[in-house]
Amino acid sequence: PKPDPILVADGVQRRFGGIKAVDVDHLEVQRGAITALIGPNGAGKTTLFNLLTGFDRAEHGTWSFDGRPIAGKSGATVARAGMVRTFQLTKALSRLTVLQNMLLASPRHPGERFWLSWLPFTWRAHEKAAEAKALEILERFKLDTKKDDFAGSLSGGQRKLLEMARALMTDPTMIMLDEPMAGVNPALVQSLLDHVRALREEGMTVLFVEHDMHAVRHVSDWVVVMAEGRVVAEGPPSSVMHDPAVVDAYLGAH
Ligand code: ATP
Repeated sequence: PKPDPILVADGVQRRFGGIKAVDVDHLEVQRGAITALIGPNGAGKTTLFNLLTGFDRAEHGTWSFDGRPIAGKSGATVARAGMVRTFQLTKALSRLTVLQNMLLASPRHPGERFWLSWLPFTWRAHEKAAEAKALEILERFKLDTKKDDFAGSLSGGQRKLLEMARALMTDPTMIMLDEPMAGVNPALVQSLLDHVRALREEGMTVLFVEHDMHAVRHVSDWVVVMAEGRVVAEGPPSSVMHDPAVVDAYLGAH
């Protein structure tokens, strides 16, 4: 297919002390595809996620999402532009219920700055719509029966599903998943993979960091390999994952 990048990044750098954690010359993520970002521990994958989504500040670099420059914008602005991310360590608040966690991820009342939103009925309508949407998403992830349970009572895999579910509350065009399969029991991995594929079927773009090479091989359209902050290889999984240099140097670590 003709290239149609939704995310384009150039010259992105972030240093921690003497270490160049991220030093990416050029990165493109194709619209509607599932792209995996792989590489050994400390390669800079999470740091790159943090930079691109406004959770950390790059020293250099420009990047745009869907044609809009978003470098230096806050996480909230990036999310409003349609790019949302999940975290390696799930962010759900364990002493709130599953449903409350979903509602917290909901976009704010669009009219809240205007006098109209002072009228209680507009709030109620907004809340009702948000709740209906939350329940619909929870149902899709088979978490609807857990809606009133504390998030803290969920299994590791269910927490990962809740992370994805929360990300969908903002109707993203691109979702970035940081190690969605880590710590998930094997029975749930397949279901997580199915959910990732389903997002692509709906036209969403997916970028995910993952160490589970089986998952990467089976679900991704494109694989980007990072090492020591740089992009060192990329291509379709069939070629990248069999590239002996990549296998030895970057996958051998796992
Ligand atoms: P993993 O696969 O283990 O999650 P990663 O590829 O996501 O690794 P990063 O977590 O991005 O790698 O780390 C890249 C480098 O930056 C590492 O050397 C790490 O120690 C360093 N680093 C990351 N965050 C910080 C920070 N807040 N302060 C100092 N150094 C950091």
